[in-house]
Amino acid sequence: MTRIAFIGLGNMGGGMAANQARAGHEVLAFDLSAAALQKAVAAGCAAAGSAAAAVKDAEAVITMLPAGQHVRAVYHDEIAPNARPGCLMIDCSTIDVESARVVGESMGKLGFRFADAPVSGGTAGADAGTLAFMVGCAEPDFPDMEALIGPMARTVIRAGDHGAGQAAKICNNMVLGASMIAVCEAFALAEKLGLDPERFFDIASKSSGQCWSLTSYCPWPGPVPAAPSNRGYEGGFATAMMLKDLKLAQEAAARAGAATPLGAQAEGLYALFDRLGGGGKDFSAIIELFRGKPPV
Ligand code: NAD
Repeated sequence: MTRIAFIGLGNMGGGMAANQARAGHEVLAFDLSAAALQKAVAAGCAAAGSAAAAVKDAEAVITMLPAGQHVRAVYHDEIAPNARPGCLMIDCSTIDVESARVVGESMGKLGFRFADAPVSGGTAGADAGTLAFMVGCAEPDFPDMEALIGPMARTVIRAGDHGAGQAAKICNNMVLGASMIAVCEAFALAEKLGLDPERFFDIASKSSGQCWSLTSYCPWPGPVPAAPSNRGYEGGFATAMMLKDLKLAQEAAARAGAATPLGAQAEGLYALFDRLGGGGKDFSAIIELFRGKPPV
């Protein structure tokens, strides 16, 4: 049993903290939202009055926060001044690579073991404890990180040192954003050319156009029953979240001097779809843009 401080109990963190409590750990939870905190208590966590109070006696800290500025502030102002020496710290938020590196380095200098460990798998994966974690940490720290992540995960992979987890996450999601757009464009063109979209799926899924966006998450309703396209693009991975990740990728590319023209196009198209009102819909709903329809 490990005493874990869990900070950030929103759509993702709530389920993740509940899985740590279910695994028999003592979870000291904190969120600025009283409702989120109450939900965590109902799931077996103990409520702390602040982030500082949560980390005071904890052996490990897990955070799941909205963005880089929240992570920097919580680690520098609340966690670092109050945590026990040697404390294991895992930030699972999706944030900019630079913030992950800065926080990782400063926690390291203070004698803490830190990992950036963003996740893939959405709220369903968070609730079920089946997320994929991409971990950026010092190599000797990885076995302890992996053990702590265990109850929340199906897959845990070390990407490299501090910041590498975030780098893996945004590179993966840039592939996803661009490949979804390519698949959506192809369905829209197939439709205009009078090709039966379901027949196109049968052919492309067995040809060189095959990819995850087509065969596991098809934006055209029908061929993949579990895909959000079959439920009006509700649930799934919101356009606004995809846009956030594509912006992070562009920010990282500009900083690194990398050419990512398709990533830039994908960001622009998701920003447009968001402005048209599609932000709350699953990201595969962008097919409506190419079919000349307003957001569904
Ligand atoms: P959310 O907005 O539901 O939860 C964030 C929580 O952090 C909120 O409850 C908020 O009150 C809390 N918070 C903010 N500042 C705080 C502070 N200073 N102290 C304590 N609590 C604070 O967001 P979410 O959907 O749970 O996403 C969290 C992170 O996970 C984000 O970085 C997101 O990009 C990433 N992510 C989300 C998904 C998804 O499908 N929702 C998938 C993968 C990754």
